[in-house]
Amino acid sequence: MVSRASKSDGQKIEYATKKCPDCYVHLPLNAKECQACKIKVGDVDKLGFAKKPADWKGYLAATISIVIFVVFMWWAFFREQP
Ligand SMILES: [Zn+2]
Repeated sequence: MVSRASKSDGQKIEYATKKCPDCYVHLPLNAKECQACKIKVGDVDKLGFAKKPADWKGYLAATISIVIFVVFMWWAFFREQP
């Protein structure tokens, strides 16, 4: 079997280093955190920057606050109906 090459992977660029998204310091590709500002960094992206790892707690808190806001607005409008 020949493995199929996906079209989206056709333009993969290899970088020797990645840049910190916060302070733009060059880091080794396998670095897990920035040497300068100590933030956690992920893999290199297509622009040569290190990806910020997903902030699940922040994302969850933001999502919950939006849901609460929407529910509250819906409840407030529903309650004001004559
Ligand atoms: Zn940094």
